[in-house]
Amino acid sequence: VSFGYEDVTPEEKTRRVGAVFTSVAQKYDIMNDAMSAGMHRLWKDRFVKRVKPQPGEQVLDMAGGTGDIAFRMVAKGAHVTVADINQEMLDVGAERAVERGSSEDEGSLVFTCQNAEQVEFASNTFDAYTIAFGIRNVTHIDRALAEAHRVLRPGGRFFCLEFSTVEWSGLKEAYDLYSDRLLPRMGQVIAGDADSYRYLVESIRKFPRMAEFERMIARAGFVNTKVEPIMGGLVAIHSGWKV
Ligand code: SAM
Repeated sequence: VSFGYEDVTPEEKTRRVGAVFTSVAQKYDIMNDAMSAGMHRLWKDRFVKRVKPQPGEQVLDMAGGTGDIAFRMVAKGAHVTVADINQEMLDVGAERAVERGSSEDEGSLVFTCQNAEQVEFASNTFDAYTIAFGIRNVTHIDRALAEAHRVLRPGGRFFCLEFSTVEWSGLKEAYDLYSDRLLPRMGQVIAGDADSYRYLVESIRKFPRMAEFERMIARAGFVNTKVEPIMGGLVAIHSGWKV
């Protein structure tokens, strides 16, 4: 499998991705703002608007990290389980949850350390499954999609937010330049870690294109699959339904 541009064993990929997020966990939220000039907040807002979490619904936010998606969904009254393979990311999320407090009409929030490829929940459990900027880090994407399908109840929905391929020509060049030159340097200056951010850039380029990823979602058994490109495909929202 590929770790950025390198071919590594699946075990090695899982280990290295783990090391990347352990390394960036404390600076993760600041880096997101810096790297996207705050735009990740708008993408996440739009994503949650599409998911439409309802009061009382059970949602699994896979690769939920420090809780950005989950906080938006509990605010709508959903009961959210944040699952992530990296305990350090979850720890930052739990700290943030305490700092932010909760209001009365909010849903509940739990954090659990789990691998998207082998989820420790019974089949047909969740109303919705969300994964934001997580799936491209998973070693076997097909296994994660199969698990998403398994834990959703019939009628449940799958939503994925991920970087994709920019298809607007002007933006594409600027984005490539930014990714190659500026991003690793920002990683170095802000998080003291250029290599992790180099990996993030490479993993985005290696990720299947929008149409191909949509086909993978359909192959996992989802129907009515859809893709919504944002900013010419810089980011995309994929969705599908379990029947
Ligand atoms: N969803 C959060 C957000 O949008 O801010 C965090 C995204 S962060 C870029 C990617 C997350 O994927 C990391 O927290 C990482 O630990 C997690 N991850 C990577 N591989 C995973 C796997 N196999 N199972 C679960 N989580 C995984």
